[in-house]
Amino acid sequence: MTAWENLENEILERDLCIGCGTCAGVCPVDVLEMQFDKYGEYKPVLIGDCIDCDFCDRVCPFLDANPNEDLISQSRFADIEGIKHRTETGYYLETYIGHTVEEKMRWNGASGGLTTWLLCELLNTGAVDKVITVTSNNDPEKLFEFGVYSSESEVRSASKSAYYPIEMSEVIKYINKNNFKYAIVGLPCFLTSIELAKKHHRKIRNRVKFTFGLVCGGIKNKKFPNYLADRFGINKGFNELYFREKDIKQPATDFSFKFKSFSNEEILNFKQDNIHIPWANKWFTPNVCNFCDDVFAETADASFMDAWLPGIQNNPKGTNLVITRNNIINSMLSTSNNINLEPISIDKVIYSQSWIGVVPDKKKELSYRLDYLKKRNKHVIKKRIKLKKPLFFKKKIITLKMEMLTMSKKLYLSFERGEISFNEFEFKMNAYLEEIKKIERYKKNILVPARCIKNIIFKVMKK
Ligand SMILES: Cc1cc2nc3c(=O)[nH]c(=O)nc-3n(C[C@H](O)[C@H](O)[C@H](O)COP(=O)(O)OP(=O)(O)OC[C@H]3O[C@@H](n4cnc5c(N)ncnc54)[C@H](O)[C@@H]3O)c2cc1C
Repeated sequence: MTAWENLENEILERDLCIGCGTCAGVCPVDVLEMQFDKYGEYKPVLIGDCIDCDFCDRVCPFLDANPNEDLISQSRFADIEGIKHRTETGYYLETYIGHTVEEKMRWNGASGGLTTWLLCELLNTGAVDKVITVTSNNDPEKLFEFGVYSSESEVRSASKSAYYPIEMSEVIKYINKNNFKYAIVGLPCFLTSIELAKKHHRKIRNRVKFTFGLVCGGIKNKKFPNYLADRFGINKGFNELYFREKDIKQPATDFSFKFKSFSNEEILNFKQDNIHIPWANKWFTPNVCNFCDDVFAETADASFMDAWLPGIQNNPKGTNLVITRNNIINSMLSTSNNINLEPISIDKVIYSQSWIGVVPDKKKELSYRLDYLKKRNKHVIKKRIKLKKPLFFKKKIITLKMEMLTMSKKLYLSFERGEISFNEFEFKMNAYLEEIKKIERYKKNILVPARCIKNIIFKVMKK
């Protein structure tokens, strides 16, 4: 079996590809091309003769045989003086809360604008020559792309979070061809693939100087904005989309999605328009996001996230939490007068991603999803946590949620093909939500009285 066939068997056929594009980027004969599949998710496609060099499967972040985030981060960070470790976050030097002093940069940022600030600082001080990050590209078929930028104005225009499929094959090829010092921003799994590429490719290793991770609760496929457009009667001819529009009258948690076409602009609010429901239930999410155990981008030199903390999250301007794992980055952040930064405890950082469900999803619930795979005689992906058998109610909910992820994509495709109406799509998907609500009600009705009886028995026995 060739390396490509191995990747096909282990990853593509099991629907475990995130579409990062690193495999296509390192292919020495350029016979892998990233193409959208029928669900609007990037997948590598073989378009020529494979020479079986093994490059593609060595960089896949979800291939069992490749080093995991523990091994990668250990070799990167374990020897740094003063470094600490938590299972939830991986290694960390310092943890901060803050935002940029410049109002415009903070306002334009997804959170407090610190990622953009740091990228500009690295360019302006000559610590890197180029920054690789994501920008909107005005193409309705592909709203965002990775690009290589060397000016502050370009980096500033790349602010905000893109919850959309974006692949790195072209920028990886660019790094291989062009001898510059680079910084890259990416989601946790994308940066794992960069580290794997650094391990096997000298040019990438020498040229990529810094990696910055965005804490990740999961990505969406290309069809998700189309689904929202259908639901809210927005013209699908939009060619720009901003996922994190802020409003001075709203808390940072109440951000909006802005759909822009040449002649129009439409705004949807994440909470008020109930977008958070399909969002949190993982509709239109790549299957492999269900099997990710890296919340905090553990292999990155620094990780950035929203300060989802009581009080702080009410500030409409947005605020960051930051984890550093690199002394150069740590001192850049901690000595600048252009940012407002204060230390914060690691517990609060973990809490910020726990109460919104990201830490439980990628740790405890993942262990149940692994059990789901085992029960169905499917390949159980190697993860850093062991599988656990969930209790009856939990098992039902996990099963429904996993079905929802798959069915949202299949049913939407049927809608696009004219086989079902949009109302039928909504009806079938809402049936899952109703079923979950019903189980939650049963659970409450049975578990709460059961707990009360247990407490009464304990009290009586104590007396
Ligand atoms: C898919 C996704 C899921 C996320 N989930 C969470 C979460 O659950 N909890 C949480 O606290 N934070 C999450 N974040 C991170 C958060 O939304 C902010 O990106 C982060 O706090 C940085 O904010 P900032 O103001 O410093 O960034 P900005 O100053 O706005 O800079 C962001 C930088 O990231 C780049 N970028 C945006 N999207 C992508 C992408 N998809 N891939 C690579 N680079 C990109 C931009 O081009 C820009 O350079 C997520 C981000 C994404 C993209």
